Amino acid sequence: MGKLTEEQRQPRARARARSEALQAEEDDRRREEKRAQWVREGMYLSRQELKAGQPCRGCGEPILDGLGERPPLLRLTPEERAEHDAAEARYKERHGDCRAMRWTMSGSRTQHCGYCCPPPPLGEEQAKAIAEILFSHKTDRRDLDDWDLTLTCDHTVCHTQHRDHQRYSTAVVNCPTCQTRRGVVEAVHIGPTEDLLGEVQRERLAAELRAAEAKGERQRKAAAKTEQRIAEITKELSGTGGRSGD
Ligand SMILES: [Zn+2]
Ligand SMILES: [Zn+2]
Ligand SMILES: [Zn+2]
Repeated sequence: MGKLTEEQRQPRARARARSEALQAEEDDRRREEKRAQWVREGMYLSRQELKAGQPCRGCGEPILDGLGERPPLLRLTPEERAEHDAAEARYKERHGDCRAMRWTMSGSRTQHCGYCCPPPPLGEEQAKAIAEILFSHKTDRRDLDDWDLTLTCDHTVCHTQHRDHQRYSTAVVNCPTCQTRRGVVEAVHIGPTEDLLGEVQRERLAAELRAAEAKGERQRKAAAKTEQRIAEITKELSGTGGRSGD
């Protein structure tokens, strides 16, 4: 396959970003539907039910299986290895198309699917630790950056994110105009959220200008191509007209 020119590469990259964003949006929608189903059908286990050994209400497999965590693959005996491979094949057969992470409880080895299986209740310690993180952590606005996100619906929204991140890290966000969750096709880093000197405003305008210029350039090229095609067809048409007149 020949090397692509920059002109060919850009639309392809855009198309790829768009189809990835649509896929993320679709996955997000599937997960939301699942979560709603788990609530509607009472599929979450309580801590008591979990401790009493009730199986997963998503896949029916045990959650606390009492088998202990699986030793590292390299240290398995041939029998253990065969048992592992069989479990792996069985998992892939049931969840091969789920596109989700797997989870297991510590002290158990039965794997559950992030898409099919409602997550287990948090232990008291875990719940306390998470609450502490959530309530103690206050982000200073001076540590935030603004990002302009173009969504699959072509709406643009501005989001903030901690400056530690080099790239925008959320794949699906809420679109206030569509009032639904949309995949992020493109994320443009704008600059610090706290804009005391008006620098962000300037940078934002400059970014808008660059985007508009790039769009104008694409449109000019497309128009030139169309003009060329018109000229070719016109020439071809006059050629056939000449012959039929002979
Ligand atoms: Zn399960
Ligand atoms: Zn699954
Ligand atoms: Zn929208």
